[in-house]
Amino acid sequence: MKLQEYMGKELLRAVGVPVPPGGVATTPEEAAEIARTLGSVAVKAQVLVGGRGKAGGIKLANSPEEAEVAARQILGMDLKGLTVEKVLVEQQVSIAQEYYAGITLDRANHSYILMLSSMGGIDIEDVAASNPDAIIRTWIDPAYGLLPFQIRDAMFAAGFERSAFKDLQNIIAGLYQVLVEEDGFLVEVNPLAVTTDGRAIAADAKVDLDDSALFRHPELAALQSETIGDPLEQIASEKGFAYVRLGGDVGIIGNGAGLVMMTLDVVKQVGGNPANFLDIGGGARAEVVRNAIDVLLQDENVKGIVINIFGGITRGDEVAKGLLQVASERDIPVPIAIRLAGTREAEALELLEGSSFIPAADLVTATRSVLEQMQERSTAGVGGQR
Ligand code: GDP
Ligand code: MN
Repeated sequence: MKLQEYMGKELLRAVGVPVPPGGVATTPEEAAEIARTLGSVAVKAQVLVGGRGKAGGIKLANSPEEAEVAARQILGMDLKGLTVEKVLVEQQVSIAQEYYAGITLDRANHSYILMLSSMGGIDIEDVAASNPDAIIRTWIDPAYGLLPFQIRDAMFAAGFERSAFKDLQNIIAGLYQVLVEEDGFLVEVNPLAVTTDGRAIAADAKVDLDDSALFRHPELAALQSETIGDPLEQIASEKGFAYVRLGGDVGIIGNGAGLVMMTLDVVKQVGGNPANFLDIGGGARAEVVRNAIDVLLQDENVKGIVINIFGGITRGDEVAKGLLQVASERDIPVPIAIRLAGTREAEALELLEGSSFIPAADLVTATRSVLEQMQERSTAGVGGQR
């Protein structure tokens, strides 16, 4: 889970890393209000893309009025395909030096790696390509942790400002603390700024956490809803589905990512327009199938559903029971066809006999039946109000 800058800075602040005071605004008026207490500010787009500065997503403002204007320009802006919905309004840092500090996993070496560079403020990938020696790498044995002498060694080698050593060292130790305590993949500060009056401060923050460890951090799991833009993707993620909304009108459910991708291709080839990717995974029980249909029916674009199940550890009869369960609980406003092969196929077909679900021997037939019914219903005006 990648955290937006303001969330990452919260984690840094909590372990004592200095970050500029500020607040989050969703309207220009709010931005002005926050700026009123801070003096000169930086107004920063909160979207999960790098290089916001270059793309026009960061503006400096010297009064509440300027902050309002800047926020009006940035809010709603499209930054590399993402719409800006929030800005961080932060006290401006008077930057003398821009450094880079990042800690991440080095899987090949079974360790963490600390990277420091005095060429901060610009894309670290560019530095790595054009000037690889400018990045000082220090491997961290997780059993010992990041030791103070390692940080000082690395700062010497990177050529950091000596007068700010103590502050910088504390910040780097703080980054490691956040990484370990929050189960992170990456904690990166670029620029790690030294101010004109000699203090060190984290002017940006990029934090990526391990989703598999989120159960250990309930307070962060709550933030996850903010990191997923689409409310339906949020609901699907809570149910444990791999789900992506695609914008067409044919809902798709399959077991296994490869099978679902193949189903998307076939639906498209037959002339349909997939509404989503939804993988129920292997060995799904009736309840899971029920939940999957439930998610798709919450998407008002969905006018028909194609289910593709290859029964290995997934049992056909369980899938059929899940479908019948939904049908017993609610009115199903769209045609649903199912292609089912493998384990307990015969039992499944028997269970579905007499139901409104359309069984099909192959995927093309399943898709065609759904598309035909969608067509009929839309010309008859049935289900069109969904
Ligand atoms: P990124 O472009 O998405 O990495 O966003 P950053 O937060 O790193 O900001 C990009 C650049 O904007 C920084 O390298 C700084 O040069 C500049 N910048 C950001 N905040 C401030 C600030 O408070 N004061 C000053 N003077 N410059 C800032
Ligand atoms: Mn940055």
